[in-house]
Amino acid sequence: MDSYDEPPVEIETTVECPVCSKPLYLIIYSTEIPMEGRIAIQTYTCHNCLYKNASVLYDTDGKPHKITFHITEPDDLNVLVYRSPSAFLEIPEINAEISPGEESTGELTTVEGILLTISEKLGLMFDQKTEEYYTIKGRIDASLQSKVPITLVIRDGTGKSVIQSSKAVWEKLKE
Ligand SMILES: [Zn+2]
Repeated sequence: MDSYDEPPVEIETTVECPVCSKPLYLIIYSTEIPMEGRIAIQTYTCHNCLYKNASVLYDTDGKPHKITFHITEPDDLNVLVYRSPSAFLEIPEINAEISPGEESTGELTTVEGILLTISEKLGLMFDQKTEEYYTIKGRIDASLQSKVPITLVIRDGTGKSVIQSSKAVWEKLKE
């Protein structure tokens, strides 16, 4: 069975881009997730200024889950990630965990996007640039260049987060 994913559908809409007022395109991408069923990711995107607004439509049971993804090759950086507003993100190799923020709205990004965000946030997490800071920063930067493997773990009490790769390992968590 090669029909794991359906090809994305792109539609020109009459919705104006909030940034530059050009028409937005709606891209609908539907995919099957192990143990979760089918989900659809809808992205409004502007080809002019690259504005993007994504939402995910679920057909899941909403039960707590954990997704583990080992980043081992350059293609892994382009894997799509949907982090729901209630998701905890963890990188065990560097002992880092990102908790959901209070006004968090969820985010559709890539593995690379997540690593870049963490790399930027490190400066705020460390008051002083200690040896630990440089160790963690070095590890993330090396992973961004696909030089060393790193692991991404998402725990989500609402079961809505997605790591869009057949390599990702999905587990049910106790409620
Ligand atoms: Zn625009």
